[in-house]
Amino acid sequence: MPSRVPAEPRDSQEVLALFERFASEGRMPRRLSAWLNDRTIQEIAPYKVFDDVWFVGVRWVSAWVLKTSEGAVLIDTLHEPFVGRLVENLGRAGVAPGDVRWVLMTHGHFDHVGGCWALRKRLPNARFAMSRRGWDEAKADALRTGRFRMPPEEKVLKDGDVVRLGGLEVKVLETPGHTLGTCSFVYDVRAAGEVHRAVTVGGQGLNGMRSARQLNAYVRSMRRLLDPALGIDVDLTAHPFATGLTEQIPAVKAWRPGAPHPLVGRAEYAARLERLIAEAERFRRVRFGA
Ligand SMILES: [Zn+2]
Repeated sequence: MPSRVPAEPRDSQEVLALFERFASEGRMPRRLSAWLNDRTIQEIAPYKVFDDVWFVGVRWVSAWVLKTSEGAVLIDTLHEPFVGRLVENLGRAGVAPGDVRWVLMTHGHFDHVGGCWALRKRLPNARFAMSRRGWDEAKADALRTGRFRMPPEEKVLKDGDVVRLGGLEVKVLETPGHTLGTCSFVYDVRAAGEVHRAVTVGGQGLNGMRSARQLNAYVRSMRRLLDPALGIDVDLTAHPFATGLTEQIPAVKAWRPGAPHPLVGRAEYAARLERLIAEAERFRRVRFGA
């Protein structure tokens, strides 16, 4: 007899709680794996969030496309079986495969780089970029899990690098922690011409924590991302459930110039990072007693 399929998580908060349980117990809750493996749940319509920025990911993991007059920058590659869907989503955002000039990857876990191999063939003009350690950890993760393959390394990103395309500047911050090769990306976005400073924080879960040292690096990276000098007021998350993004889709679609944009908010961003720091410190005490 087939076993009963567990009910779908109610909302982002419950997904987040299930991931936290996964991190602390080391075993994935059934309710979470059922949700992750359900394609009808995962495949959502792409949507525009700012003037030239679209969400092209799936329900549990983000891919962002930044459009410019010279082509597009894609952040993260999703993973199979969603790569075909990602290319379709790009098309619906008005981005042809040949328009993608850069693929910036946050870190070497399969959900962010698992699509790299297939996209390499489907995006003929793109350069694939990740940190030195990111490439290494992606190759290692591919070998270890057997879940995906990695193409040869193309471009190595370093802290402080700026990726430029058609007036867009994406600043690269190496933010080790979630993995030691994690990068975050900072860039301007526009809402009806009004400029905001967005970040895609690469890696924010505690699931890969191996040592107190790694946790310390994570906390340092999160503090760095809080630096007011970076001017960040938009949090374009690498995982929608981390910010409740999916619940905000109706408000994002309904937004009109003149109204406050639902994804602009320094206070919410700062509070989320503070929460991540507090959780990491608690985790360090419980797991490593330090
Ligand atoms: Zn990860």
